[in-house]
Amino acid sequence: MIVAAAPAATMQQRFARIVGERNAIAEPNDLRTYECDGLLGFRVRPAIVVLPESTDEVAACVRLARELDLPIVPRGAGTGLSGGALPTDGCVMIGLSRMKQILAIDYANRTARVQPGVINLDITRALAPQGYYYAPDPSSQSVCTIGGNIAENAGGAHCLKYGFTTNHVLGVTMVLGDGSVVHLGSRGGELDTLGYDLVGVVVGSEGMTGIVTEALVRIMRAPERTQTLFATFPTTDEAGDAVGRIIGAGIVPAAIEMCDKLAIEAIVAATHVDWPLDVGALLLMDVDGVDAEVEATAAQARAHLAAAGAIEIREPKDDAERALAWKGRKAAFAAVGRISPNYHVQDGVIPRKDIAPVLREIAALGAASGLRIANVFHAGDGNLHPLVLYDARIPGQEHEAERVAGEILRVCLRYGGSVTGEHGVGHDKACYLGEQFNADDLGTMQQVRSAFDPEHRFNPDKVFPTPRLCGDKPGAYTPHASELSGEAGRG
Ligand SMILES: Cc1cc2nc3c(=O)[nH]c(=O)nc-3n(C[C@H](O)[C@H](O)[C@H](O)COP(=O)(O)OP(=O)(O)OC[C@H]3O[C@@H](n4cnc5c(N)ncnc54)[C@H](O)[C@@H]3O)c2cc1C
Repeated sequence: MIVAAAPAATMQQRFARIVGERNAIAEPNDLRTYECDGLLGFRVRPAIVVLPESTDEVAACVRLARELDLPIVPRGAGTGLSGGALPTDGCVMIGLSRMKQILAIDYANRTARVQPGVINLDITRALAPQGYYYAPDPSSQSVCTIGGNIAENAGGAHCLKYGFTTNHVLGVTMVLGDGSVVHLGSRGGELDTLGYDLVGVVVGSEGMTGIVTEALVRIMRAPERTQTLFATFPTTDEAGDAVGRIIGAGIVPAAIEMCDKLAIEAIVAATHVDWPLDVGALLLMDVDGVDAEVEATAAQARAHLAAAGAIEIREPKDDAERALAWKGRKAAFAAVGRISPNYHVQDGVIPRKDIAPVLREIAALGAASGLRIANVFHAGDGNLHPLVLYDARIPGQEHEAERVAGEILRVCLRYGGSVTGEHGVGHDKACYLGEQFNADDLGTMQQVRSAFDPEHRFNPDKVFPTPRLCGDKPGAYTPHASELSGEAGRG
């Protein structure tokens, strides 16, 4: 008797054996959710999405992906703004959203051990009753995940004083491209100073070194007091000058955020904060620490704001008023979405002393293109977020908005800045990386990446400029010797 061979298991069945049927998504309709991240202009459907629940499951998925020769794209909450979690054609997307447990909190060592799908703000919510918090505070902190924060080295308003994600991650457990599990850095909060700072390499590597499945993060005591100052100015020139004066005087506020006129109008319309509309710019600033320090620093800051030409300086009278002011700032991107059908968020860095001239150049780019540009950004860090407004229904406007956003990055580079401050390079800015770094720099970065992921299985077509990604604008990139010799590749 001839027995028919059992049909080979489908890809979905094989992943389902690892993560369970409901966590292996391959229905075209269900996959649509995963077609893009916060960079909405680009969409690619993944071959399959898997949602593992443990490090072992992640490792088994990576091993199977390797056997099937599938590219892997890790995904947290999908709030990234540079297309870092944009699927690669034919990829398996490994979503970490089911790994959302805070595994341990250790107040004595001031650490928390968390899974990668934990929402940023949930750490602070868990710590608040004991008077502690997790410091990095991206405006998306109520939805974005720690895994995504680590991959992007996320920043936030209060990173001016307390540092970016990289300053708050002490150790990671991660799955490498061959499915092996490694631990890097501190295990329990003990000092880890020997050897290379590999955790530092992983933080900000945009999901290209492996999949983080656990992180040991630093937790901090909440400050005794926080004083918020709110100052309005005739134009962004005086506001920019105030930022330079304050930082130049040696004052380190916890945060200094700037909004220009258009951003103020959008925020007021959306959130009904009682901010004046007849001003050109405002600064929102937090000064924190122990009582006496806050008193003295706030007085100095007020003097600098006045000297720079502030029209009005306000101090919220209680926590509720303070929270309202910050709610306005944190809702800024959504608010701008109400005054324009579409917008492109740019993220570039400049030396903070140049805020005023750079904002003037950005305004000139807006005027020349006929597109409105709102600015709402981390002024203390010189980390600009121009939002280029457009209407995708008008032929050519989306393309023009992208062009203007790109020109803004070139302005940042001309002033000695960078093409990203906190949103990453991802898919969106790969073309511009070759304008910031030369071929040797890029080749060296590829070698570091290859040490973790020699096959370039993770996020293969992100960050590094390629002719395919950059269309007719391959940037200044030419292959490095290590690529020509086959030692490193560009996926
Ligand atoms: C309204 C709004 C405001 C924002 N404000 C800020 C801000 O103030 N500061 C700021 O820095 N960013 C901000 N962002 C951008 C975004 O929220 C951050 O980049 C955030 O860190 C992304 O987290 P995520 O969980 O959404 O990651 P995703 O978007 O899902 O992924 C981001 C990158 O991380 C990789 N990745 C995800 N999880 C893992 C993992 N476990 N291991 C390895 N790689 C992984 C992905 O492959 C991708 O490359 C904002 C976004 C929005 C929409």
